[in-house]
Amino acid sequence: MAVTINVDECTRCDDCIPVCPTKSISVKKGNLVVNADTCTECEDHDSPKCMAVCPSGSITYA
Ligand code: SF4
Ligand code: SF4
Repeated sequence: MAVTINVDECTRCDDCIPVCPTKSISVKKGNLVVNADTCTECEDHDSPKCMAVCPSGSITYA
């Protein structure tokens, strides 16, 4: 389970990187990517932290 970042809509504000509790979001070749092996979809939280802070709506459930 993991969320997906639409790189065409992402503005590279990088706000989602520090809020991820599992450090699953990183920059690879200039684009934000989610590590599907470690992303828990924030199952222990009320809602995915990264989706809550993303200003461009680029993060969706895979
Ligand atoms: S859903 Fe949660 S665990 Fe997954 S990338 Fe977003 S903040 Fe990190
Ligand atoms: S918060 Fe949204 S727009 Fe900002 S870097 Fe993350 S995915 Fe891209």
